[in-house]
Amino acid sequence: MEYLLTTNSLTKQYGRHKAVNGVSLHVRQGDIYGLIGRNGAGKTTILKMISGLAAPTAGDFTLFGETGKHTAPYLSRVGTLIETPGVYPNMSAAENLKIKCLSLGVRQKGVIDELLQTVGLAGAGNKKVKNFSLGMKQRLGIALALVGDPDLVILDEPINGLDPQGIAEVRETLFKLNKERNITLIISSHILEELSKIATRYGIIHDGVLLQELSREELLAKCSERIELKTSDTRKACTVLEGMGITDYKVVDASTIHIFERLNDSGEITMKLAENQVKTMGIAVKNEALEDYYLNLTGGAANV
Ligand code: ATP
Repeated sequence: MEYLLTTNSLTKQYGRHKAVNGVSLHVRQGDIYGLIGRNGAGKTTILKMISGLAAPTAGDFTLFGETGKHTAPYLSRVGTLIETPGVYPNMSAAENLKIKCLSLGVRQKGVIDELLQTVGLAGAGNKKVKNFSLGMKQRLGIALALVGDPDLVILDEPINGLDPQGIAEVRETLFKLNKERNITLIISSHILEELSKIATRYGIIHDGVLLQELSREELLAKCSERIELKTSDTRKACTVLEGMGITDYKVVDASTIHIFERLNDSGEITMKLAENQVKTMGIAVKNEALEDYYLNLTGGAANV
């Protein structure tokens, strides 16, 4: 099986508004899939449909090789943390986990201690949850999502509202789950910079539509430092570049070449092109930050 999960034109309409509009995601086994989008983009609605908490208006999904509109047959294989974790504040983390274990029929000995250990709450298992920091509550939410030993864990904004230390702790926990327990993760966030530290694949959602799906390498390449050369003849320009010993470049479209080496030599490149009767229509060194790339794609900084 190539994909653990694909959504097939998944759509959710509320009244006349399509909160999710024909979204087709592709999640591989072992991915840490980052679903990125501004507030209101439709991330939670997608995750709710995949988790069986909301029914699609149209479309369906293929999960563990089976196609349908419901997650019900796989509930034990999918762990979720969507919006704030439902916890009992007057109980301890261990007691909260015990209730979840009972509700899912999980009886293995030592499972609660192991889960607390996994999410870094081993020392705080008996503390009442109402006295937890936000980061500790999020980690307890992740532990709750792990009850039943799922293959796929879906986390909606797990780093939202956390301080840098809390973010780092949650990130470590997620890495560990992915690497040591081979859990596939889908994580939503409105902060690309944060997701970029962990996700291996990205889906960019805007106004309910999937704008782009790309791998970590593809995203980093788009944001890497480069010379952007606009020219009337890319074929001839490539010959000139090769003649200068420049090999690390990419023809992006009919008039654009991205050059990833000799970033200080744009003057020399322009001169050599002119000598060979190749017209330079524009040349600039670009280093688009991740957030800029995302903002450009989604149309500016408003409402972020
Ligand atoms: P956020 O990070 O703010 O939660 P999001 O990307 O998760 O944003 P969603 O919560 O999925 O976005 O919402 C997408 C759109 O669907 C929004 O316009 C929202 O108002 C609308 N919406 C979500 N749930 C409902 C509902 N139950 N009834 C009507 N509209 C809804």
